[in-house]
Order: sequence, then C-alpha cells, then structure tokens
Amino acid sequence: MSKLLMIPGPIEISPKVQEAFAVPPPGHLAPPVIEAFGRSLERMREVWLAGKDSVPFILAGGGTAAMEMAAANLVECGDRVVVACTGYFSDRMSEMLRRLGAEVIEVRVQPGRRPEPGHLDEILEAETEQGPVKALFATHVDTSTGVRIDAGAYAAVAQKFDLLSIFDGVCATAAEEFRMEEWGADVYLTASQKAIGLPPGLALLVASPRAAAARSRLKQAPPMYLDWDVWRPIMDAYEARKPAYFSTPATNLILALDAGLGEILEQGMDARFALHAGKARELRERWEGLGLTRVPEDDDGAANTLSALYYPEGVDASLVGRIGERGVIVAGGLHPEIRDRYFRVGHMGYAMTQPEMLERTVSAIADALGVRSNP
Ligand SMILES: *Cc1c(COP(=O)(O)O)cnc(C)c1O
Repeated sequence: MSKLLMIPGPIEISPKVQEAFAVPPPGHLAPPVIEAFGRSLERMREVWLAGKDSVPFILAGGGTAAMEMAAANLVECGDRVVVACTGYFSDRMSEMLRRLGAEVIEVRVQPGRRPEPGHLDEILEAETEQGPVKALFATHVDTSTGVRIDAGAYAAVAQKFDLLSIFDGVCATAAEEFRMEEWGADVYLTASQKAIGLPPGLALLVASPRAAAARSRLKQAPPMYLDWDVWRPIMDAYEARKPAYFSTPATNLILALDAGLGEILEQGMDARFALHAGKARELRERWEGLGLTRVPEDDDGAANTLSALYYPEGVDASLVGRIGERGVIVAGGLHPEIRDRYFRVGHMGYAMTQPEMLERTVSAIADALGVRSNP
C-alpha cells in the first residue's frame, strides 16, 4: 500500500482526476483541450459562487503566482493597502506588496488568532482619515496555523470603506464556504494542488468586474506574464471555444481541472462545504481523544481543511517521521514563531470523501504517539 499524502497540499486526488491527467500531453489547440479549458472557466465561476460577469483566469504556476497576479494587477507604487496577517502566507503577501512599492499596513495577531472584523473596521476608520486605502488582503485559511478568517465579514468591512478585497484561498477554495458574489469579494485565488484536488501546477483566480476595471486604471502595466489585460483575450477565446495562444497552458492539468471541477459541482457547493465542516469537526474530536491541542484558539476560527496540532508534552518533531513510517505523510510546523512546537495534517478534497483514509490517518498518529484511538 502506498503512503497516504495528508499534508496541506499536494493532496490525494480522485481516480477520475488522475485518469484525466494521465494521458500523453495534448497540444494547446487540440479540441478536447479547448473544450476542457472553456468549460473549466465556466465551472470556476460556479465553484467560486461568483457572478456571471466575473473574470476567471487559469495559468501555469503555483499559488504564489496567483497571489502575485492579484497584487500586480491591483496595486502599484504609492498605494496604501491593509494586510490581515495571520501567518506565513499573509507575510508573503505583505512582502510582495512592499516590492510593488505599496505602503503596507499590517494587522498582526499571535499565531492561532485572527483579526476580528470589528478590529479591522477600527483600523480602517483611522487609516482612511490619513489618506485613501486601496485594498484589503487576507488569507482565507492560513496554512501555517490552521486558522480561518471570517471572509464574509472581512469583505463587508472592505465594502464599507470602498476598498478592493482580495482573498488568498489556496488552502480553502472549494472546501471552505466562500460566496464571492453574495459577499462582494473582489478576488479569490487558489492553486490546483490544494482543496481543488489536482496535481500541482495551476494558478487559478477569479476577479470581480470591479477588480478587472481597477487593473485598467494602473499607471504602470504589470509584468507581462501576470497581466490580466494580456490574458483576458485568451480566456475569452477559450470560453468561446476558440483556439488562442499567449503562453502554453499546462494541457494535462487543464484536462484534470475540467474533470475535478466537474466532480466538485456534481457534489454541489453547499454539500461540499458541509462535508468538510462535518468531517473536520469529527477530526477535532479525535484529536482531543488523542490528547492533542490545536493551534487555532477557537473552533469558529479553526479551518476545515487542515489541523495544526501542538506536540504533546515530551514529544518533538520526530513524531512526523514516525507517522510517516506508519504509512501516512503529515507536515511539520511552518509558522516561524512556533515552528518546532506543532505539526499539520491536511484533510481536504478527495480524502474527505474516503472515511478509510481519515481513519488510517488518525490510527497512524495515535500509534506513533503510543496512545489508543477510539473512533
Ligand atoms: C500553499 C499556499 C500558498 C502557496 O502556494 P504554492 O503553490 O506553493 O505557491 C499560498 N497561500 C496559501 C494560503 C497556501 O496554503
């Protein structure tokens, strides 16, 4: 039996997705690729619960490329922006924004906490008096702490102050509730290897019409590969089922994306969100049964896509290796302030539909800890 990959991405993928992916590489103008590309763009709007005028982008790259694409199309030198800093990836976003020459206002919290929407509101009240603020950036699920922010409330605060709101959904999209149109969010981005359930290699992003229009008002064009205005005619062509070329798409991944989004939509978004919430709640009970405490401070803010768990008294990072020897790969710590004190278990996408995978994971952790797991 091969080892089970239970890290916060890449993840176990469905047989259907694997089958769609594992074909000799087709050309980017092959009719099945054009069809899969066009349908994937349409399906992204459905999975993102985005408006029909929203603009989806699919390009070869990681989640970091999607983050950079969002930043580079919305922010330029001299802009003031707010970043809700919950951990490793929001710090990365801050750094990207500083490199663009933005003035970055960080709202920082202790690992395991998240800025309350009311706190953001207060900060924006004060900052907008100093001068215009352009955008609010936040990480939907912080992969380094397992904390999920209240994205709907954040989007509402952004709207109140007329800010663009940009959410990094790399460890959340298609698993955690996100209603792009209803909440009025402007960008929601992810990568293929997380909750979307594909191999790594695609950056996926949907922009609201308001965000797309903000790109056109930039004084300085973004780097060409990341430029929405360069990619939009390509995406429009594929959606119209016409061939187009700017930079070669990852053709196998496009076939897999179409299959994966199809499976997600077959499940239905509400059912999918509920499945992750329910299974994650069960897992939290199991962790408690094993005597493990969580990094997120409250259950409302605990992600459904991964668990960040402190090592118990007398246990160190060698636990990760011992779990691996028992056939399940989990991840070590990532947040720089607590890195050596906890480990992370990814539980999103296909594995959440396979009870035996979750059971194997809990058993391997229990066995490595030398405690009994009671289902
Ligand atoms: C994984 C992850 C990223 C980075 O994605 P890469 O594909 O590794 O570049 C960014 N943000 C979050 C929240 C992530 O979980």
